Formats: sequence, C-alpha cells, structure tokens
Amino acid sequence: MARVGVFVCFCGANIADFVDVPTVVEEAKKIRDVKFAIDYKYMCSDPGQQMIRDAIVQHRLTSIVVAACSPRMHEKTFRKALSDAGMNPYLLECANIREHSSWVHQKDKKGATDKAGDLVRMAVAKSIANEQLHEISVPVTKRALVIGGGIAGIQAALDIADARIPVTLVERSPSIGGRMSQLDETFPTLDCSQCILTPKMVDVASHPYIELIPYSEVIELDGYVGNYKAKIRKKASYVNFKTCTGCGACSQKCPVKVPNEYNMGIDKRKAIYTPFPQAVPNKPVIDAEHCTYLLKGKCGICAKVCEKGSIDYKMVDEVIEREIGAVVVATGYDLWDATPYEEYGVGRYKDIINSLEFERMVSANGPTGGVPVRPSDGKVPKTVVFIKCVGSRDKAKGIEFCSKICCMYTAKHAILLHHKVHDSRAYIFYMDIRAAGKGYEEFVNRAQVETGAVYLRGRVSKIYQKGDKLMVRGEDGQLGQEVEVEADLVVLATAVIPDKGNPALARLLGISYDKYGYLSEAHPKLRPVETAKAGIFLAGCTQAPKDIPETVAQASACAAKVCGLFAGDTIKKDPMVSTVSKEFCSGCQNCVKVCPYQAIVTEDIPLGHGAKEMRTVAKINEGVCQGCGSCVAICRSMAINLAGFTDPQIINEIVAI
Ligand code: FAD
Ligand code: SF4
Ligand code: SF4
Repeated sequence: MARVGVFVCFCGANIADFVDVPTVVEEAKKIRDVKFAIDYKYMCSDPGQQMIRDAIVQHRLTSIVVAACSPRMHEKTFRKALSDAGMNPYLLECANIREHSSWVHQKDKKGATDKAGDLVRMAVAKSIANEQLHEISVPVTKRALVIGGGIAGIQAALDIADARIPVTLVERSPSIGGRMSQLDETFPTLDCSQCILTPKMVDVASHPYIELIPYSEVIELDGYVGNYKAKIRKKASYVNFKTCTGCGACSQKCPVKVPNEYNMGIDKRKAIYTPFPQAVPNKPVIDAEHCTYLLKGKCGICAKVCEKGSIDYKMVDEVIEREIGAVVVATGYDLWDATPYEEYGVGRYKDIINSLEFERMVSANGPTGGVPVRPSDGKVPKTVVFIKCVGSRDKAKGIEFCSKICCMYTAKHAILLHHKVHDSRAYIFYMDIRAAGKGYEEFVNRAQVETGAVYLRGRVSKIYQKGDKLMVRGEDGQLGQEVEVEADLVVLATAVIPDKGNPALARLLGISYDKYGYLSEAHPKLRPVETAKAGIFLAGCTQAPKDIPETVAQASACAAKVCGLFAGDTIKKDPMVSTVSKEFCSGCQNCVKVCPYQAIVTEDIPLGHGAKEMRTVAKINEGVCQGCGSCVAICRSMAINLAGFTDPQIINEIVAI
C-alpha cells in the first residue's frame, strides 16, 4: 500500500502570488494514497528539507512528491533529503508548478491553481509506480582535452595540469596565444599583454602534464563522460619540428608574400612563417594554399636554405586518437564584419579600421612600429573618431547583445592614442558607458581626464569623405543636436562574435549553441561553465564576450570542475537509462538509428534456448545513454524500458489527468 507525502512550495511570491497553494494542499489530501500533505514558503531551504525528512519517518511514507520549481533547479536537493531520511532518492517525483503553472498563467489564478492540482495528481500517480533505482558507476579516464589555445585554453590547461592530471591541448593555428597575443597593453592596469601572456605560453610548452598539439583540430568525439575518444587531425606543417631549430632562414628567403593574419592583414607574411616572434611552439609552418612548391612544384628555396634538412614537402595530415574523460572548449571569438554599415562607408574608405587593427598598430611589435597610421597615406592621425556598438545592440543588424568589452578597450585606445601621438584628440561616439568591473569606472575617468577624450552620446548616422578627411556625422545626446567631426582615422568597435566554426564544432561534440553561435551553458546562473552534456565545459569567449579577468576566472572554474570529476576512479551517473528486453526485441534496429547519442549497438544471441542459429538484437550502453527516451518511442516491439519513465508510470499519469 502506497503512502505518498506531498510538499507544496510557495517559492516566496513566485508560486504563491499566482497559485492558491493551500487549495493545492487540500486537493492533494483528497487523493487516496496521499497520507501527508503540507505547504511551506521555501521547500528547498534547510527547514523545508527537514520537514520532508521528518515526515518520511513520522508518516512512514513510501514516495514523495515535491510541487515546486523545475526539477532542473532542485531535483538533486530533494533527492538528497530523501537519502538523508533513509529513503531511496529515486522515489521522489517533482511537480513543476512554477514554470508550468504560476509563471505561465499569471493572469488566471483559478486556472493556474487547477493546473497545479492536476500536476500534483499526476505526480502522485506516477510516484506510486516509482521503483528503487541506484546510481550507475562508470570508470573514468583521467585525461582532459582542451580545444583552443587562447588565454582561456591556456589557463584551463595549466590549472588542470598543475593538479597532475594529463591534458591534451589542441590549437587550430600554428601557435597558442589567441587574441590576447595580438593586444598591446591591457585594461584596467595597462600592463603589456605579451609580458603577462608569454610566460604562461612557455609554461604550457614545458609542462610535464601538457601535451600541446598545435595546427590541429578535433574531428570526432565519441563516448560519454569519463570515457570519450577524440580524433584529432594534425595538419601537415611540412616542417619537421623535431629537427627544426626555429632559426627563420626559410621565412627570410621565401619569396611568397600573403596578408599577415596576426597583424590583421596590415602587413605581409611569407608562405613559410612563424605567426609572431613569441610564438609557442616557435617553429614555422608552410601555408599550403600559397606555397609555390606545393602548388606548382616550383621554388623549393626553403628546403635549400634549411641547414637541418627540416623541410618535408611530402608530409601529409595525420589523424591521431586520444582517450579522455573531460573536454574544455575554449575556441574564443572573432570580430563582426561591419560591411552592412553602408552609411559608414566600410570597405569604401581606407581610413576606417576596426579595433583589432588599431590594437596591432599601437602594439610595440606591430606592423607600424607602435604608432597608428592612416592606411590611405601612412600619415599619423591627429583626430581619431572611435565608434562604439558597431553591430552590437543593433537589432536592425541582427545582433541584440552587448559585446561587453568595447567600452573598456575604447577607453584604453584613447589612452594609448594619447601616449603614442601626444597632440592627438580622441572623439568617442557611444550609447552608454558600461564599466562595471574592479577599477573599470576609474579607468574610464582616467581616459577622459588624462587624454581629454571627448565622449559624445549618440549613434553615428553617416560618414563621408571630404578631401583627405572623413566627416563623421552623429548625434550629441547631451547637447541635443547633430555634430560633425573631421577625422583623420575612424576606429570601429565592431561586435564580438563567436568563432564561425562553433556550430560545426558543437554538432561534433553534441552540445548546443545559441542563435549567434555562442556555445550554451547548462544553466545561465547555476551551471555557467558546464554544458548540458556531462563532462564538457566552456571557457572564455566561446560562451559569450568576456574580458581577460573574466575569461581566466571561467577557465579556472572549468579546471576545478574537471579536477572534481576526476577526484575518484569512477563517476556516478543517474540510473534513468534504457534497457532492451532481448526476448521482445525484433532486431529492426530502428532504435539504433534514432538514438542521438549513439548509445545503441547490436549483438547476436542464440535464436532460442540452446539453438545454434543466431539473431540480432539491440544492446544499450548504459554509460552513454542519456535517458532521452527516443528509442522507447520508436520501438514497435515495446522491447525498451526507460528506468524512471516506465509504461506503468506514464499510464498512471495519463489516467490521473
Ligand atoms: P581567443 O583569444 O579568441 O582564443 C581562442 C583560441 O582558440 C584561438 O587561439 C583560436 O585559434 C583557437 N581555436 C578556435 N577554434 C578552434 C578549434 N576548432 N580547434 C582548436 N582551436 C581553435 N580584455 C582585457 O581584459 N583587457 C584588454 O585590454 C582587452 N583589450 C581588447 C582589445 C580588443 C580590440 C579586443 C577585441 C578585445 C580585448 N580584450 C581585452 C578581450 C580579450 O581579447 C579576450 O577576453 C580574450 O582574448 C579571450 O580569450 P579566449 O581564449 O576566450 O579567446
Ligand atoms: Fe616559400 Fe614554399 Fe618556396 Fe618554401 S617552397 S620558400 S614555403 S614558396
Ligand atoms: Fe539513446 Fe535516448 Fe534510448 Fe538512451 S534513451 S538509448 S540516449 S535513444
């Protein structure tokens, strides 16, 4: 005989304002198997949980229904309360009367209350058929894979490796460092980016627990938390890194010149190149798309000048495999192409550049020797107009979000301009100044006071050429009138967008991404570094725009999560997984096709007891199964059972409603 306890939560005003909670309790008491029902302000609080623990003992309850928020919020909390009272935690059922009732029916309290009552009745009916389940233990491979070697990937790799956990760091380009390696000085302290980044890059290369695989990409990931298998394609570098000394003779003599990505195309690099002087590893690679020898079989100069014989034109891409237990994705960001801003003349006027181009110009190791110049005539600009929110916060251009870092780096750019060109003046068109961070507001004030930068609140409506100047027309919100500034150079703070490879990478990893291509965290507040797929974590700008301190903090948080996951030799997994009943399985393999996690394989079993002939049946790997139920729905033989969502449980719910 079932003895169900029902606990209805007010969730402060969240539920209580729109659902008549005492009525829901009274209705619950009328259900035959309910032996105890009560409400409380916050069921998830300590006293709320204590109420559940006490009632289990006092009323000899056999299953529990908590009518509160989404199980995504507090299912674990309440399961623990059951365990603490000596009850199997899977005898809990959550009725989500907040998201499914009070929040969606705020204008209809009676309707919301009736619906909450129905949800409780269904949960009670289901809970009666609940079975005792037990967590599944799966072995764990203690190696982490970090994808992307910007500051996020570097920090995550170092923190994990410092805990003596082996890490494989895969970077797509020939060197680690990411965007931070392109920056000059960094807000809010103006310390030199390379000076703080290079030691970390060197640490990565020399760390005994880090395997650095540059110029490579992950092309396949199979398996499940604790037991992933990754395939990594190492692009042919055509240089034997073991013998190459990085002397640079090859690059010096190579006759081919192509736009230099590191310097945002402002100058040229060779077809055989090391991306920048502090690159890690400090070895050149041949760009196969531009090398004359690889394209036409002519030249071969680099091989001739290389004293170590390190050039190998026959090298081919190599695919290697690594077994890992967890993945940190840190693929960073890109800048939005502002061409849709026709009114700004982007692409038409040479003296309109973006913020990373400006950053490269003012960098000491940059292509213009550390001073900004006009691309049109090479002259040093005296009046520079910075325009913020280009693309960002502009629904018309398809980007609604705030890029978060532009307010700060534009203030930095005003300071750097003043340092490099003393008699210059910065004009900054802005919508708001968002400087919420430690020392950030002070930094913006410093930019205004020290440099005399003129902040003009309003959007720019038009840019046009007048002689060798660019006329920037916009609004000055403070004066309430239109202004026009005669500029030598215009710098656009274009939106920070995710790496364009993110959607493909997300599909490969089996994680989700938002409409912009940013990878999605499991919960925006409570699980900001985890993805919905167990064992895969997110660090840095791959998840959303961030500055360096925030990126580093998130990377370290990922490392803590990985170390936590690897703390034992096995990891625990929810028992809500599917199993195939062999005698009913017809071997149609429809389930194999629909399983989104590739959890189902086939096996051959004897046709009958003691028979020699064999037949094929489906078999589910409980470590991989995520309990989505797709296989249960497709199986016409009704051979699959999903623990926690069995037919009797579902039928009970339907009958109750
Ligand atoms: P990234 O630096 O973009 O690194 C991502 C890495 O992943 C890259 O190396 C990339 O090649 C690699 N990658 C991408 N896809 C793959 C793949 N599929 N497989 C393998 N590797 C891959 N912040 C501050 O705090 N202070 C400042 O002064 C400052 N100035 C800035 C100025 C400008 C103009 C801009 C645009 C940003 C500035 N920032 C500043 C922000 C800073 O650049 C970022 O916070 C930081 O670089 C984010 O690091 P990340 O590792 O997340 O991304
Ligand atoms: Fe440059 Fe290719 Fe010639 Fe080498 S062979 S020098 S990389 S063009
Ligand atoms: Fe695959 Fe979902 Fe079936 Fe598990 S429940 S085997 S994840 S289809």
